[in-house]
Amino acid sequence: MDLVHLEDNMEELRECFRSRKTKSAAWRRDQLEGLMRLLKEKESEIFKALKEDLGKPPAEAYRDEVGVVRKSLNLALSCLDDWMAPKKVHVPRIGFPTTGELVPEPLGVVLILACWNFPFTLALDPLIGAIAAGNAAVLKPSELAPVTSSLLAEYIPTYLDNKAVKVFQGGSPVAERLLEMKWDKIFFTGSPRVGRIIMSAAAKHLTPVTLELGGKCPAVLDHLPNHRDGEVAIRRLVNGKWGPCYGQACVAIDYLLVEEKHASATINHLKDWITKFYGDRPLETNSISRIVNKSHFKRLRNLVQDPTVAASIVHGGHMDEDNLFIEPTILLNPPSESEIMTEEIFGPFLPIITLKKIEDSIEFVNSKPRALAMYVFTKNENFQKRVIAETSSGSVTFNDAIIQFLCDTLPFGGIGESGFGRYHGKFSFDTFSHEKAVLRRSFLIELSFGSPPWSDYKLQFLR
Ligand code: NAD
Repeated sequence: MDLVHLEDNMEELRECFRSRKTKSAAWRRDQLEGLMRLLKEKESEIFKALKEDLGKPPAEAYRDEVGVVRKSLNLALSCLDDWMAPKKVHVPRIGFPTTGELVPEPLGVVLILACWNFPFTLALDPLIGAIAAGNAAVLKPSELAPVTSSLLAEYIPTYLDNKAVKVFQGGSPVAERLLEMKWDKIFFTGSPRVGRIIMSAAAKHLTPVTLELGGKCPAVLDHLPNHRDGEVAIRRLVNGKWGPCYGQACVAIDYLLVEEKHASATINHLKDWITKFYGDRPLETNSISRIVNKSHFKRLRNLVQDPTVAASIVHGGHMDEDNLFIEPTILLNPPSESEIMTEEIFGPFLPIITLKKIEDSIEFVNSKPRALAMYVFTKNENFQKRVIAETSSGSVTFNDAIIQFLCDTLPFGGIGESGFGRYHGKFSFDTFSHEKAVLRRSFLIELSFGSPPWSDYKLQFLR
């Protein structure tokens, strides 16, 4: 879709929404089934696109993209009637006899701006919510995953109602032009920097926004005396750091906190598991996504270029610009003021910071902006309670990482710098709905206590 006809396209979307077509359950179901057909019929093309854009191996592409979208579609299709149904609420005695209910209604025409690291999931997961809630929508995939973006632009109009769902491709100039339009909701996934641009554009039209941003997600590793638990924890840490899109994930572990006395054993175990996952020559493995492009490669290389940071590398560090590959890399206590400890890494470096006592991790985490996700490996229930009560983050997961992203009964979203608003499962439907308050009174009784002429007697009654 090109921007030359943007106004006409917007009018078509508005007209389509005004016609109330998108409100019917049948229309919503048709679109969701259309998306499901797209997944089934074009799976191999989707895998190919994700391979070209990010070097994603098909199994990873299924786990993190096709499978995630399929799961969301299955849930939306099976729960749609329930989600759309009005919900009765308790009404206080004041209006007796009265009934109240919450009736979800779509917001209108919504804009979804997606990010490149999970270019399929981050475009379609919010779209599923928007459609299930009965909205018309515009999707702008990320220009940094151009093959997936083209695939979406080609197939969405064939599988979905293209009067109600449109795809615009391009980078920031296209996004900026779209942001000049009046939307009923903007759903944005990306950096806090662009999040600020989105919010100020939305303010002009009083448009509500959901901002799914990023930041530094900490992991804390308490000592796990049981050998097997320790092994499982390290395996999950390696997966939580290098697993999803090779660390280029908003929920990937950014840095790891451990007690000083366990640091060297932790590093050795991490190295073992890195080898088990990716072999002795990670560059040759088929199990790693690559760095998205040269500019991100250079950004990452700069993070470790400072001699004091480079000196803290205890494993890996090899870089191959031609193949956009960086070895899984571990750093021990890089300087706290270095960029690698102040900026989101979004790549395959894992700084380990040592502490005297694991409880000090609470203060460490609290000294940083609030994270999208926090991961704490511990069996100490008291410590778990303290983490929940004394730290703040979009989510906290004990004894694993990333898995919360796949759990549709938990909302996904950030707090503070990591964003606001939430989605996944029913939360996606709610994000794209307005819950209209509906109250019905009966004519059966009419009491005069709530209206003039006022008297002390009425005051007593109202009390
Ligand atoms: P980005 O913020 O540069 O881009 C995201 C989207 O914004 C793209 O569609 C892009 O075209 C658009 N955009 C870029 N510049 C724009 C501008 N000036 N005006 C309007 N739109 C513009 O993304 P990035 O920095 O490459 O992505 C990484 C960031 O995204 C990280 O911070 C990461 O944590 C975050 N992220 C968050 C989630 C989440 O679900 N919370 C998921 C993935 C990535």
